[in-house]
Amino acid sequence: MVTLGELREECGVFGVIGHRDAALLTYYALYALQHRGQESAGIASVRRDWIEARRGMGLVSEVFDDEILGELESDTAIGHVRYSTSGESLLVNAQPIVVRFKHGSLALAHNGNLINAHLLKERLEGEGSIFQTTSDTEVIAHLIARQPWSDLEEAVLAALKEIRGAYGLVIMTKDRLFAARDPHGIRPLVLGRLNGTFVVASETCALETIGAEFVREIEPGELLVIPKEGEVYSLQIDKGEREAFCVFEYIYFARPDSDFRNRNVHLVRKNLGRFLAEDYPVIADVVTGVPDSSISAASGYAEEAKIPYQMGLIKNRYLGRTFIQPTQRLRERGVRLKLNPIKQVVWGKRVVLVDDSIVRGTTAKHIVQLLRLAGAKEVHLRISSPPYRFPCYYGIDTSQASELVAVGRSVEEIREMIGADSLEFLSVKRMVEACGFSYDSFCTACFTGDYPVSLEKRVSLPNDF
Ligand code: AMP
Repeated sequence: MVTLGELREECGVFGVIGHRDAALLTYYALYALQHRGQESAGIASVRRDWIEARRGMGLVSEVFDDEILGELESDTAIGHVRYSTSGESLLVNAQPIVVRFKHGSLALAHNGNLINAHLLKERLEGEGSIFQTTSDTEVIAHLIARQPWSDLEEAVLAALKEIRGAYGLVIMTKDRLFAARDPHGIRPLVLGRLNGTFVVASETCALETIGAEFVREIEPGELLVIPKEGEVYSLQIDKGEREAFCVFEYIYFARPDSDFRNRNVHLVRKNLGRFLAEDYPVIADVVTGVPDSSISAASGYAEEAKIPYQMGLIKNRYLGRTFIQPTQRLRERGVRLKLNPIKQVVWGKRVVLVDDSIVRGTTAKHIVQLLRLAGAKEVHLRISSPPYRFPCYYGIDTSQASELVAVGRSVEEIREMIGADSLEFLSVKRMVEACGFSYDSFCTACFTGDYPVSLEKRVSLPNDF
């Protein structure tokens, strides 16, 4: 039986070749990509003929120090940050993974999710492969190792032709870096240049951080080969598929200073907010956003609606992995650590609260309550994306369909559950328009059920599209 999305990976990847500060650059780039994953971090680097890797649970700052980075010093390195996903919070799943086989040593770092990983794994196990992790990435490593080709490049290409789903992948050997993007381009991956050497990263914000210039995005279905010496060249994994870039990268996941398809994420989010104000105006005194991801959309809403934007909520940014959750007793006594309202901003006011998405509905319900307790007279919730109705099988961590609040509920029913005075979502059509590209160039599956890589279980489009 096919079980989809057993282990969903929202991650950030980075790679650099031919730069004497490779490990340190990777460390800084991972800092810039930290929003893409806070569960574990890892760096692998080439040490003469072998590959050394350090991985650990927690933030980049918790895993690495001067001494470890000193040990990883090299001119070629790749790195990875991984998001927390249910039940699989194990060090063994931290990346990059390193394998040794007939072609020598290889390190892999993967962002995304393969929808046929379990089928491939079953086959490989039947043929005698032994797996040490539950991560899709190990499946790719086994596939590469089992190819009959004597040339590694052919082996990587043949392996990638077998996998289906979403990936932004970096693979490192002692003298080459491979960068690959799935044929639909669901997950992002960009190429940069730094003093004549090449770097690849999940987002442009990582290039900016290390002073690299943006060259271009890795094309959907492209396997880019970057040798330590010699010219860079491309191989085609697959073609003829429609492009389907994940729209949720624009809406929530990416950092606002990143660009995709030459469009800045912050400005796209502002546009989403503007469209939301055009379509769903409301008489109010103040607009506020849920920090941090919704601030751009909230400022767009405020500008369009000509209602002042105010900072109504503060987020505590210093709650690391190990912070101790308050007990029920302390919560009842009013201990609130993560989000706090600014009473002076919302007291007696009609507030427009903009958020980027509603998934399970817990955040929205909590914040509406917070604002009411802080004295808001009315709370009008505006969401800069459509109702999230379908699980993502391509790498964004969402719960099962049964946990999605919009499944089987009308907007009015959701509003009632959340306790807002009014609730409106941006439509699929307007969301795509605000992003500035055609519907056909996006993966909108979480909102529409229109999965670009066909799944076994077919789903139908919702009525309101
Ligand atoms: P929920 O409480 O489940 O409705 O989650 C929605 C809130 O979490 C919104 O404020 C989003 O900014 C944020 N969010 C949306 N998608 C994700 C995700 N995949 N992982 C973590 N947070 C998310």
